[in-house]
Formats: sequence, structure tokens, C-alpha cells
Amino acid sequence: MTNSNNCDVVVCGAGGFIGGWLVAQLRREGAKKIRGVDLKPLDEWYQRFDDVENLSLDLQERPACEQAVRGATDVYNLAADMGGMGFIENNKALCMLTVLINTHLLMASRAAGVEKYFYASSACVYAADKQTDPNVTALKEEDAYPAMAEDGYGWEKLFSERMCRHFTEDFGLRTNVARYHNVYGPHGTFEGGREKAPAAICRKVIDAKLNGTNEIEIWGDGHQTRSFMYIDDCIKGTRMMLDRDIRGPLNLGSSEMVSINQLVDIVEDIAGVKLHRRYNLKAPKGVNGRNSDNTLIRKVMGWEPSISLRDGLEKTYAWIYDQMVEKTQARLPQLSAVA
Ligand code: NAD
Repeated sequence: MTNSNNCDVVVCGAGGFIGGWLVAQLRREGAKKIRGVDLKPLDEWYQRFDDVENLSLDLQERPACEQAVRGATDVYNLAADMGGMGFIENNKALCMLTVLINTHLLMASRAAGVEKYFYASSACVYAADKQTDPNVTALKEEDAYPAMAEDGYGWEKLFSERMCRHFTEDFGLRTNVARYHNVYGPHGTFEGGREKAPAAICRKVIDAKLNGTNEIEIWGDGHQTRSFMYIDDCIKGTRMMLDRDIRGPLNLGSSEMVSINQLVDIVEDIAGVKLHRRYNLKAPKGVNGRNSDNTLIRKVMGWEPSISLRDGLEKTYAWIYDQMVEKTQARLPQLSAVA
């Protein structure tokens, strides 16, 4: 689609995992003019649609943000330099530089007269001292304060949440902020260092199965707990927040808490294998326990994420399996040519 000056909705980070699914949903709902923006070259986007205006721009730059939101009524900010624990523990400065995206997007949105602005925050804003026990008490929205967020990534999210709040209070720009808890599903990162636990575990189990190694490396002792939200619930909750003007910050996550060992059990069961577990206690593992308290979302939306981990993982596993088999097959002619 060619560039235009008007659009109904802009998805920033549209080349990424959640952004790609959000664009797909907006198309299904019949949004006429959608603009997707991402730093990545267009051929690297996880999902890309020809009837959408797709722009490759660096949203850390103010002029790029102005171009991105030109003529728009709704803006979703899902753009961030981020990944799983392996990435965020080792790239704190890069994570913090994402503050430029939200800052410039808010400024550009205000100047362009944008009506609704959605910001994707994270459960990483929660204070570390409330997440020391695997049998963690689920986190309520107020547990972000007194603040001691995840170093780097979490502090940037907390700061950006507050910037949204003050743009609303001081400038009247409507902002809606969700705190996503671990989102997973097809069309997301499963290799390369930015992948999160569900995709990483699926990849490792598939790898062990395809190569017959019979072994899996697990980061930490496997007792650390989390909850994981399937992508369909994430998109549904995100759209509801914007449509119903639920300001937040609001937990958007599953409350089905599992340990990493239990996550591996489920994936092994789906794969039909039982692997020897090698625990890497030196690898990044994040906080000991984290779960989403959904009291507030139930109250304000009458809804909460409900897709079971087992159901979501079956779909995710199947997609990652296909990707890995496809890649192996694509390499075969080259390998036989070398031989
Ligand atoms: P993702 O990495 O798949 O998508 C983010 C996209 O932002 C990427 O495609 C990336 O290229 C793009 N981006 C990075 N820097 C950019 C820049 N300077 N200009 C333009 N685009 C840029 O991640 P995701 O899982 O889809 O996450 C989307 C949002 O949700 C992020 O803000 C993330 O922090 C937040 N979030 C995600 C999760 C999760 O579990 N996936 C959990 C909590 C919060």
C-alpha cells in the first residue's frame, strides 16, 4: 500500500511478535487504514500484510515518530528493543534507550492531535523484593511501588508508564497502559538470543527430538515460577483496553502459575519425549517467582486471560516445529552440495 497522510490506526513495532498479531486483528475488525511501523527491514517482519501501509523507520528519532503518527487517531506503541532474560540482563543500556521511542512518540502524538495512545508496559516494573519466593503472592498493580523494577528494561517501562500518565494529566492526551505478563505464541522469536522461556523450551525440546540428543539445558534450577499469556488473550485484552478507555496501568496476564520445570513437562508431553535435564545455574533466570493478580482486570473488564497454557503451547510448539523442519530442509541441498 502507498504512503498516505491519513490513517485510523498506527501500530508501532508491527514487525514484531505482538504487533504483527495486532495488525492481523485490526484488519479482521475492518479498520480501513492501518499503518504498521518497525525498525526492521520489511522482509524481516514476522507478519506483513499488503493492504497495510508498512513503514521501516527508527522510532527513536523524533522526525520518524512524526511521520509514523501523521493523520492518525489511534496509536499503539509496542516498539521496544527487548527480549527474554538472556537479552535484558545483558543489554540494560539498549533497553533503557527505548525510552526515546516512547518519549518521541508521545510528543509527536500530542502535536498531531492523536486521540488514543496505547502503551505496552511489562510485569518487569514490579519491585524485586516482592518476587523472591517461587510461591509468590500474585502481583497487584500497586506492587510496582515503592519502586525497585527489573534493572534496565523494567525501569524504562516504569518511567515510560509515568510519562504516559503525565501526558494525560498535563496535556490531555488519552493514554491506556497495560502491563503484559510473558506473552507467547506462533510468529514470535524462538532463536537468536531474544526468545523468552516458552519459545526457548519448545525450540530446545524440538532440537533434542530432531537430533536425538535426549538432553535439555534449563536456565536456573527450574523451580522459578511464572505465568504465560497466549497471544490471543493478549490481543483481546489490548483491544478491550483501548475500546473501553481503561486507563491502567493494568495487569494483562494469565494467572495460571507454573514452574519452569512444569513448563518443560508440558512441552515434553506435547512432543512425546522425556529428556535428561541439565540445569545451568549461572545462566540468567530473572526473579524467583512472578504471577499476575487479576482482581482489577476482572473488575474493570469483566474478563481476564483464560486460554490454558497447554492449549497455547500446543499451537506454539506446532509452529516452531514447522519453522525448524523447514529451515533444516532448506539447508539440505547446500549440505549435499558440499558433500
Ligand atoms: P518484539 O521484539 O517481537 O517486537 C518489538 C518490535 O519493536 C520489534 O519488531 C523491533 O524491531 C521493534 N523496534 C525496536 N526498536 C525500534 C525502533 N527504534 N523503531 C521502530 N521499531 C523498533 O517484542 P513483542 O514481544 O512483540 O513486544 C511488544 C511490546 O510488548 C514491547 O514493548 C515489549 O516490551 C512489551 N512486552 C512484551 C512481553 C512479551 O512477553 N512478549 C511482555 C511484556 C511486555
